[in-house]
Amino acid sequence: MPLILALDQGTTSSRSLLFDEKGAIVGMAQKEFKQYYPQPGWVEHDAHEIWESQFATLAEALAKARIDPHQIAAIGITNQRETTVVWNKTTGEPIAPAIVWQDRRTASYCDELREQGKAPLLQQKTGLILDAYFSATKLKWILDMTPGARQQAAAGELAFGTIDTWLIYKLTKGAVHATDVSNASRTMLFNIHTLQWDSELLELFDIPASVLPSVKPSSGIIGECTVIPGTRIPIAGVAGDQQSALFGQLCTEEGMVKNTYGTGCFMLMNTGQQAIVSHHQLLTTIAWQIDGKTTYALEGSVFIGGAVVQWLRDELKVINSAPDIEKLAASVKSTDGVYVVPAFTGLGAPHWNAHARGAVFGITRGTNHAHIARAALDSIAYQSADLLKCMQADAHIPIRELRVDGGATANDMLMQFQSDLLDCNVVRPVITETTAMGAAFLAGLGVGIWKDQQAIATCWKTARTFEPQLPDQDRAQLVKGWQRAVKATIAWAGDQPN
Ligand code: ADP
Repeated sequence: MPLILALDQGTTSSRSLLFDEKGAIVGMAQKEFKQYYPQPGWVEHDAHEIWESQFATLAEALAKARIDPHQIAAIGITNQRETTVVWNKTTGEPIAPAIVWQDRRTASYCDELREQGKAPLLQQKTGLILDAYFSATKLKWILDMTPGARQQAAAGELAFGTIDTWLIYKLTKGAVHATDVSNASRTMLFNIHTLQWDSELLELFDIPASVLPSVKPSSGIIGECTVIPGTRIPIAGVAGDQQSALFGQLCTEEGMVKNTYGTGCFMLMNTGQQAIVSHHQLLTTIAWQIDGKTTYALEGSVFIGGAVVQWLRDELKVINSAPDIEKLAASVKSTDGVYVVPAFTGLGAPHWNAHARGAVFGITRGTNHAHIARAALDSIAYQSADLLKCMQADAHIPIRELRVDGGATANDMLMQFQSDLLDCNVVRPVITETTAMGAAFLAGLGVGIWKDQQAIATCWKTARTFEPQLPDQDRAQLVKGWQRAVKATIAWAGDQPN
C-alpha cells in the first residue's frame, strides 16, 4: 500500500505524518525547536534547526511506524508562512537568521510605505494588507542589513525562500529552488492575478529577481527528495499551512469555509476562481493551483481565540487545564448578560483597532468566575462569527456549513454556540490533522494515488455535526449585546493617546 509523507513545518515545532491512501494516519513524530527573541518585537529561527528538526521527525516517523521508505509514494510539504530565509546558492549556508512571520522589525518601514500611499497598489496586486507580517520587507531587511548581501545578490549568489522553499532545497540536496503559488502569494512580491513575480513590486522593495524561487502549482512533482538513502521520492504537494488546512478539510468548492481554533483562529473561505478584493481588510490569497486552475480564498484571523482560555488558566487561575473550561462554563445556565471582549492585543476585522484592550461588561453582584469563563468561551465564537460576516459581505456567497479544526474544537459547548450564532451547521471531522492532511492530499493527487479531488472525498469523514438550536430572537439579542460590548471597548480605546 503506498504511503504519503506529509512534512508539517510549524512556527514552534516540526512534524512528520504518514498517511495511507484511505487518509488514515499510520505514523507521526514531532519535535520542537528554538525561538529567538533578540530584541523586543523581533522573532527569529535558525534555518538549520528547522531543517534538522524536520529531518529528525521524518526519520523518527518512519522508524516508529516500521516503514520501508520505498513505500513512500510522495512527499507533501506544508509550512509556517511568510517566514523568510536567505542563503548562499553555492554553499547552502543561510546568510542570516530566518525572520519569522511574527517579527515586527519592519513595521516602521511599512508605515513609511503607507504614508507614501502604497497600500492600495499592494492590495490590488497581491491581495495583502500592507504589513510587516509578509516576506517582502523581511527580505529587504536581510539584504540591506547583512554585510555584503547586496553585492552577493547582485552577483546572483543568493537564494530567497519561505520555509517550503528552504525544505525543498534541503530535501533535493540543493537541486531545486522553488515555491508553490500559495506560499508565493504571501510574499507581497507576487501578483496574484498574473501569477508572476511583479517587477514593479520588486523595484519598490529593491529585490533582485535573481534571488527568487520559481513558482509551481501546489500539486504535481516539484523535485525529488534524495536525502533518504536508496530512495528518490517525488515532492508532489506544497501549500502554506492555512491553505493546506482548507484543502485538508476538502473545502474545494466555492463558498466552503474552514475555521481553525488554536491560540488564534484562522478562517478561510474558498472563493473559487475569483480573487475577491475585501472591503473589510481581509486578505485575498491564492488557495492552491491544481491542473492549471487557480483557486482563491479570503482569509481573516481572530487574534485571541484559545488564548482567552489560556488567560483564564494562567492569569485568572480559574481552571487548571484548558479542557476544564467546558465543565466550569456549563455550571451556569447562561453568562447572565456578561460579555468578555478579549481585545488583549487590539481588535481585528471588522473593527481594526490596535489600541483596544480587553474588557468585561455586565458584571452584577451575582457574577462569578463561571459566568466570566462562559462569556470568555463565547467570545471565541462571537469573534469568529464577526469574521464570517465580513467574508460573506465581501464575497456575496452563501454559507452552507463551517468546517472546524484546531485544539479548541474539542469543546462541544463552544462548537454548539458557534453553530447557534451562525445559524448554520458546524462540522468537526474525524481527523483534525487537517493541515498535514491537505499536504498529503495535494501530494497524493500530484502522483496519481487519487485520480481527482472526488476520489479523495472518502478520506474525509464527519465526526460530529453541530446544528443550530437557538431561536432567532435569542440569537439577535445575544449578538446585540456583543456588539454593544465591542462598541464600548472601542470607545474606551478612543481616549488613548496614539
Ligand atoms: P496552536 O496550534 O495555536 O498552538 P492548538 O490547535 O494546539 O493551537 O490549540 C490550542 C488552543 O486551544 C489553546 O489556546 C487552548 O487554550 C485551546 N484549547 C484546548 N483545549 C480546549 C478546550 N477543551 N476548550 C477550549 N479551548 C481549548
